[in-house]
Amino acid sequence: MIFAMALAAGTARAADTPPAGDDPSIDHKVMDLKADPCGNFFRYACGGWIDANPIPADESSWGLEYALSLRNQEQLRIILEKAAAQPTPETQKIGDFYASCMDEAAIEKQGLAPLTPDLDKIEGLTDKSQLPTLLGALHREGQGGLFSFGAAQDAKDAESEIAIADQGGMGLPDRDYYLKTDADSVKLRADYLAHIAKMLVLSGEDEAKAAADAKTVLAIETALAKGALDRVSRRDPQQTYHKLERAQLDTLTPGFDWTAYFAAIGAPPVKVVDVTEQKFFRAAAKIIATTKLDDLKTYLKWHLISGSASWLPKALVDENFAFYGKRLTGATEIRPRWKRCVNVIDEEMGEDLGRAWVADHFPPEAKAGTQAMVAAISDAFEDDLKSVDWMSPETKQKALVKLSQMRKKVGYPDHWRDYGALAVTRGDMLGNVARADAFETQRELGKIGKPVDRGEWEMSPPTVNAYYNPQMNDINLPAGILQPPFFSPRYDDAVNFGATAGGTVGHEMTHGFDDEGRQYDGHGNLVEWWTKDDAAKFKQRAQCVVDQYSSYAPIDNIHINGKLTLGENVADLGGVRLGYAALMKILAKKPAPDIGGFTPAQRYFIAYAQSWCEATRPEAAKLHVATDPHSPAKFRVNGVVSDMPEFAAAFSCKPAAPMVNAKACRVW
Ligand SMILES: [Zn+2]
Repeated sequence: MIFAMALAAGTARAADTPPAGDDPSIDHKVMDLKADPCGNFFRYACGGWIDANPIPADESSWGLEYALSLRNQEQLRIILEKAAAQPTPETQKIGDFYASCMDEAAIEKQGLAPLTPDLDKIEGLTDKSQLPTLLGALHREGQGGLFSFGAAQDAKDAESEIAIADQGGMGLPDRDYYLKTDADSVKLRADYLAHIAKMLVLSGEDEAKAAADAKTVLAIETALAKGALDRVSRRDPQQTYHKLERAQLDTLTPGFDWTAYFAAIGAPPVKVVDVTEQKFFRAAAKIIATTKLDDLKTYLKWHLISGSASWLPKALVDENFAFYGKRLTGATEIRPRWKRCVNVIDEEMGEDLGRAWVADHFPPEAKAGTQAMVAAISDAFEDDLKSVDWMSPETKQKALVKLSQMRKKVGYPDHWRDYGALAVTRGDMLGNVARADAFETQRELGKIGKPVDRGEWEMSPPTVNAYYNPQMNDINLPAGILQPPFFSPRYDDAVNFGATAGGTVGHEMTHGFDDEGRQYDGHGNLVEWWTKDDAAKFKQRAQCVVDQYSSYAPIDNIHINGKLTLGENVADLGGVRLGYAALMKILAKKPAPDIGGFTPAQRYFIAYAQSWCEATRPEAAKLHVATDPHSPAKFRVNGVVSDMPEFAAAFSCKPAAPMVNAKACRVW
């Protein structure tokens, strides 16, 4: 994926039509032309926009891609409001969902009543042996905690869908938040404790009990964190693959009745499970065995309330935002209700909503233009693989086969998801969310033992993002990102190639050959296809990228984690190189003039950089560095261009300039 998604109010650039003038695509006002492109290219390309667009109160970061997200959201809002007011048979469900979400008066009036059945079930536990049944029922509706369970392709047999059990059940953003001992982390945990207590008071507990219960929750979550695998290790697919037979699963978690759990969550017969992290499940089983039943109930109650908070009365919504929004990301105001409602329907019924949106906002020429860029990038990648001098012919041949097997999905799915079995009711928001989550659980678990559906999308069409899936060996480019100001059939090639062909298409394709993706073959199987020597050379090249990005400190001397961000940095570097090579091939046949004072090569790099124009609050910047596998925007720009002699040539940078990396890294 390329963006951490966040949506916002305020300063959308009207970009449906290009700005007037001789330059249809590079807007000088976005730039800071007084800055030195060879000194800080991010500032040069984005300074004007960042200065003119302060971060809106309801956002933790703000950039051009968020402005694009906002425009897509506004378009979705129009569709949903119409669906709510004048539903057709096609839009009835999304309209009812939106109406129930916007009906704050009904939500206020109901209070905690929609939670009562589940709270009663938790309260009614009289013996730990009943826990698996309850947990399965909660997980089915997207609630619960302790761990997560679903379906996934078998990493070593890509044609087969199996069950997967993964770590989970922690309310803080990462396991390290529970374990780190620095002053900031200690303070954050104290604030988390206070937040849990406030939420429990708002749901009816007295203050003394709420304070004690908060400590119980934190103790259980800390024990889970101690068993959990860290983020860097989780990027290594070999470390998260442990396929167990049913009997082995039972041995791993003594006392936990999986048969009862599977029945309650609605799983088909489960013969094998990929347990991503066995240490975590041993820890979870031990927690269940050694914790008092009342304390386990407290933990489950907290997760139910916290997990439902967004759709409960305002006092709980506000307290939930005070911690997860304000404290963790620095946003000072909650997003308006309509945006939260658009988002939840995009999450829960994304293909029904997306189908209506695509019809109006993704014309056939945009799809054709994207497909042409995809073909150009694919050709450039083929040329690149053939020309690399550090790989043996044997591995090279296999890499070319993998590239040829990569599926390229553009815009939206060929077959739309059928939500026919999902019941949506006006006036029952929490019930709608629970039923939609249960529908999704059923859909996921229904895959177990069935053939893999390679046409499936994991993002909705209006999403401003894209992804590569190593097990499918496919790139997925939603229509949402193939929009102005990043892409338009009317823009000149240099701009479309900088922002989209290189920045998105080439980035996603390169993921197939980053440190993680390279471990899968063209069918999506986790299997070694590299010679030992070539793998060693790859690792050496990747280490250069680790060292380069680890040297950057985006905030308060906190450095980027070069290992956590390696795959994304390799994809950025590869993508921008591929986009550039593809553009040069086109220009060799059909030269382009300078526009607005910039050569095509300059426009290419500026367009890439401008796709990352962004400012971030300090709180969000810290959260980003701790949890996000992408480098912060500034370094996605400056890190990449400083490794490219083509950039130095385009802007006549001297060898000693900050944007010229003397030890330039190159993987692809
Ligand atoms: Zn990526």
